[in-house]
Amino acid sequence: MNASGSEAGAAPAHHEGAARPRAAGGAVLLDGKAVAARVRAEVAERAAAFAARYGRRPGLAVVQVGEDPASSVYVRNKRRASLEAGIESLAHDLPVDTSEARILALVQALNHDERVDGILIQLPLPKGVDANRIMDAVDPAKDVDGFHPVNTGLLAQKRPRLRPCTPFGVIRLAQEYGIALTGARATVVGASNIVGRPMALELLLARATVTVCHTGTRDLRAEVERAEVLVAAVGKPGFIPGAWVRPGAAVFDVGINRGGDGKLVGDVEFGPAAARAGWITPVPGGLGPMTIAMLLSNAVDAAYTRAGVWPPPPGRRE
Ligand code: NAD
Repeated sequence: MNASGSEAGAAPAHHEGAARPRAAGGAVLLDGKAVAARVRAEVAERAAAFAARYGRRPGLAVVQVGEDPASSVYVRNKRRASLEAGIESLAHDLPVDTSEARILALVQALNHDERVDGILIQLPLPKGVDANRIMDAVDPAKDVDGFHPVNTGLLAQKRPRLRPCTPFGVIRLAQEYGIALTGARATVVGASNIVGRPMALELLLARATVTVCHTGTRDLRAEVERAEVLVAAVGKPGFIPGAWVRPGAAVFDVGINRGGDGKLVGDVEFGPAAARAGWITPVPGGLGPMTIAMLLSNAVDAAYTRAGVWPPPPGRRE
């Protein structure tokens, strides 16, 4: 049985994606780019409604310390996507040698700035800066990354507020493709604070039966082979062999790695995995765009919540 309760490999009857593009091997490609565009359109509509009601656009402060090239690309993309969605983007670029005290002072100023609904601290922070201290200083109501212990705790207690963007993106993608999570055996490979752990909490919230694997896991292959829903967040190119993927499984590959040829690849060996899976995310074009879209959605949610509207009005889904 696969994640939707159908026999291995067969497309379930209720699966609206049956006519969607399939990877060469047979899996349905989970088109994160297309779904992210839909989410961003919802966000734009909600941001415009917010601006009409409150006389200002939702504001997202993006803080980058130093000039890590990958971070600079991410930050540029986030800023552009914000503007396109009608969210005010407030840039704070600090030199690499900025002291922890100075960063903390900026966070405090942003916490008190009424125009700022969301605060995003681009990671990694330079060596010598305690990232936990900085992240803990962000007002949980403005924590659009969903990394603050208060937001993680609320998710753990089944009453999510601002939800970590990548795991939230996995859930939205599963919803869009009609992938049933309730009752599914879900395995998350990776247990970091920003992806693996909140991913496990999201899947638990969706009522999956969840296993979390990490460097202490004894028999990773056996755990992966059981998975009807597999989320890989390890950070090693092609780390999970396609032959381990359960036939018909839904595979969400969070990994973004540079392969030997300089191209971006995921944590799952794509070709052989796609030949066995029921659904699979490409890298790039899977969870990368979804993560940015969910961040923008969180920024609008934060704006409404700060204005006293909870739950925030949803966008109109096509
Ligand atoms: P991390 O290094 O913080 O965590 C990696 C996890 O993998 C750890 O929990 C570790 O225990 C586990 N792991 C490592 N080796 C293992 C092994 N041999 N067996 C089992 N588990 C093992 O990484 P992260 O920040 O969680 O990111 C993971 C990947 O996701 C990276 O490639 C990163 O670039 C990518 N990422 C993508 C997005 C996105 O927008 N799509 C967002 C965040 C992270």
